[in-house]
Amino acid sequence: MSASIASVSWGKDSMAMLWMLIDSGTPVDEVIFFDTGMEFDAIYRERDRMLPVLAEHGIRYTELRPKNPMWWNMLCRPVKSRKTGEVHKTGYGWCGGACRWGTTEKTRALDRYAKERNAVVYVGIAADETERLGKGEPWKRYPLAERWGMSESDCLALCYRKGNEWVEGGVRLYDVLDRVSCWCCRNKNMRELSAMRKNLPNYFERLVALERAIGEPMKKNHVLCPGQNTTETERITK
Ligand code: SF4
Repeated sequence: MSASIASVSWGKDSMAMLWMLIDSGTPVDEVIFFDTGMEFDAIYRERDRMLPVLAEHGIRYTELRPKNPMWWNMLCRPVKSRKTGEVHKTGYGWCGGACRWGTTEKTRALDRYAKERNAVVYVGIAADETERLGKGEPWKRYPLAERWGMSESDCLALCYRKGNEWVEGGVRLYDVLDRVSCWCCRNKNMRELSAMRKNLPNYFERLVALERAIGEPMKKNHVLCPGQNTTETERITK
């Protein structure tokens, strides 16, 4: 029989899936988490709270990591031009939007791990996010959408009932962010960035520093860095 693996990011959807798998008595041999190293501290704290639950249910726990630290890929990696084969820049820059190099490495690593073990993998995609369902890989299962019909809000409500709250800086991350992905994710929208500036200033300062180091605004036509020329841009720090 194939091993069964739950792919868990420790965000609300995969966390809810994990609770549902456990509570429904669905056999799970292993939980895997790909740690980008750029997760909010609250993600790591929720992970640490869940490790005893996994142990209690005899579920093995494995962490995968990028080959190189994400910050190195972002800022330091020599990047070759596809046309010339010559190194033409240093670092991939921001991850997110159309250039999600971190997601590519994460997906490849998780898929490779599952394929090597001929495993069935449970993936936590909510019923109202069907556009994120995979490419029909036969070994992947989406029980939130396909078995329980749980929406994103259902998942969050279940996690809160179970005591997973993702508190950071005195706020619940899901109260101020649409998606709790990497703190440096370029997919964050303006409302989320404003909320980070207000509620999560330590992370916002890191974004400002990254913007300076990368030399490109995180959001098109907006700059995070105080003191930059803002004549043609609106500063999010207003
Ligand atoms: S969450 Fe954002 S920054 Fe992190 S790997 Fe995915 S696209 Fe990249």
